[in-house]
Amino acid sequence: MAKLEHIGIAVKSLKDAITLYETILCTDCYKVEAVESEKVMTAFLKAGDTKVELLESADETGVIAKYIETRGEGLHHIAFEVEDIYAEMARLKKEGFTLLMDQPKQGADNKLICFVHPKSAGGVLLELCQEIK
Ligand code: ZN
Repeated sequence: MAKLEHIGIAVKSLKDAITLYETILCTDCYKVEAVESEKVMTAFLKAGDTKVELLESADETGVIAKYIETRGEGLHHIAFEVEDIYAEMARLKKEGFTLLMDQPKQGADNKLICFVHPKSAGGVLLELCQEIK
């Protein structure tokens, strides 16, 4: 895998979290984007070579709403950038990892994404992402 692309943080209020992380990282949020397929609103801030992705549920049935309901706000996933998401998915599947989807989905920030189940990744939800060129 190429590099740590971003860290995803589940938040109740995107507006409050943007203000908070703008203060922490001393930089402005550069993008706010809805991801319809995940029922989520995202906001991105740069942190050196990587990014922080803030995630707010678009409604109470979304995955982020459910996550916050059971585990509270906080670290949701870490994302690794890959060159070829199809090849990485096939490799991990062969290695016995549980992928949360059979095909990559359109994610935020112009990426194809796929999640790896935390049960097969040491308790961490992993996202593979590949830039759409
Ligand atoms: Zn992400």
